Amino acid sequence: MRYLKIACNPPPHIVKSCTMKNQQAGNQKRSQKAAETWNKRKAEIVWLYQSQMWSQARIAEYYGVTLAGIQKAMKRLAIPSHSHGRRGTLNGRYKDGSESTLYRLMIQKDKCAMCPATTGLVIHHRNFDHQDNHLENLQVLCLPCHSSLHKREWWRRRKLQL
Ligand SMILES: [Zn+2]
Ligand SMILES: [Zn+2]
Repeated sequence: MRYLKIACNPPPHIVKSCTMKNQQAGNQKRSQKAAETWNKRKAEIVWLYQSQMWSQARIAEYYGVTLAGIQKAMKRLAIPSHSHGRRGTLNGRYKDGSESTLYRLMIQKDKCAMCPATTGLVIHHRNFDHQDNHLENLQVLCLPCHSSLHKREWWRRRKLQL
């Protein structure tokens, strides 16, 4: 973790994660952190689920969690399920306004952002902070592009360290 602190010069909102040193932080703290993360994702999940009609399985895959995990999180966030929820009450919420561009960017996840690949896609965090799930920080990449990007970043940081 130390090299992160030296090498990156992060904007204030990610300083915390760059300098975070104690993996032994208590369980309570961790679950609180998870709750915060899911709270931040709530608008995004609601939009994907109720406006874009993504399945829970697809959303789970998108965030890299299990189906049970996403179900638990959605329950905690009080997002009604398709079967007995009032579907579409939030439809159109993001159709106008600045946010729509971001959501559209996110939805273009059928293709790598750097090459024409359409399979083996992953979500990359542009600032390399996996806690920062703001849409503008997310990018869809195929595995080869993703790993070469991370290799390049690794070398960049290593050079800064020497
Ligand atoms: Zn690619
Ligand atoms: Zn990445």
